[in-house]
This record gives sequence, C-alpha cells and structure tokens, in this order.
Amino acid sequence: MTTGGLFGKLFKRPEPSALEILESVRWTCVNCDVVHRGMFDIAAHAPDHWDGTGPLEPNGALRLDGDFLSEDFCVIGGEHFFIRCVFPIPVHGLRDRFGFCIWSTLSRENFGRYVDGFDRGGYGDAGPWCGWFSNSLRGFPETINQGCWVQPRAARQRPVIHLDDADHPLSIAQQNGITPERLLELYAEYGHAPTR
Ligand SMILES: [Zn+2]
Repeated sequence: MTTGGLFGKLFKRPEPSALEILESVRWTCVNCDVVHRGMFDIAAHAPDHWDGTGPLEPNGALRLDGDFLSEDFCVIGGEHFFIRCVFPIPVHGLRDRFGFCIWSTLSRENFGRYVDGFDRGGYGDAGPWCGWFSNSLRGFPETINQGCWVQPRAARQRPVIHLDDADHPLSIAQQNGITPERLLELYAEYGHAPTR
C-alpha cells in the first residue's frame, strides 16, 4: 500500500451530503452572492397578482380603498385582499421546517379580523379561514388559485397555510416531509446551489 493512497483517503475532502449542507453554519452559493446559513425560507414578496412597482409601504399605512403593498398586507383595486403567510414543509432529519413564505387571499371580513388581531397580537376567531393560494411555486404543479386554509397564529407569527386539496403534491410534501436532496433541488429551481 502506498502512502499516497492513504494520504488521498485521509485528506481528500468528502463531498458534504445534502443534510450536511442544510445543517452547516454557512454555505457558498454558486448563483447569488449571498452566503447561506443552513436552511432558509423562500419568500414571495407579493401575491403574483400584484403588478405594481416601488418600495413596500409600512404595515401601519394600510389603505383598503386602492392598491397597497406592505410586508404583510396587500390590497388590489380596493376589492382583493391578501396577507403574507407561511407554508411549512418538514425536512427529513432536520428539526426546523422549511417554509415557503407565500400569500393568500382573504375575504374582506377576515382580512379585517386579521389586521385587528395583528395589532393586538392574538385572534378571537381562531380560524382557519378560507382563501386562495396566491403564488405559483417552482418545483411543484401549479399552486396559484388553489383553495387553501389560513390558520392565524398569535404574537404576529405568520399564518400557516394548508391546501384544501390533500392530494396536491405540495400537500403531500407538507404531510410526509421532503428529503434534504429534494430541498436542494427546490433551492436550485430558485437559483440557489451549493458549490461542490
Ligand atoms: Zn443563493
């Protein structure tokens, strides 16, 4: 046995597994200049129906009678009401859940309830409220305008979403969880990939 072979075994850096990448403190992305810290959420900053430009307004400036977009609330044409939610998906082997930060519609009445509770930090009506999923997600069959359930949560945690269609692949991912490899595939769909 040559020492070269042994040294090669000892010092060749093994490729990290998908789980190791998602558990790592930081990993370098080939596509964006950000150093990612382990697992991160993928966020849609507005409903896909929003075609406005310009900066987000503060939540406190909410107007119901025209077009409005803040971090958590969106109104289109004074008649379509959206809130920012999270769609959590367990990842096998990880304690924390991955989240798609996406938007759902609410009725005007429930939108008002949400805004009131958002300010107070809790909800008298525990929900869930029905809505329409308001973003397309990459890596899954079409999700926009799927019926969904919006579960408000206390203390300004973003409401949790479930699709009404339990057989949709996104619902199945939420029920069964996904592998770390599948999450890296989803990141790649959004332009994030670890250097190898
Ligand atoms: Zn990236």
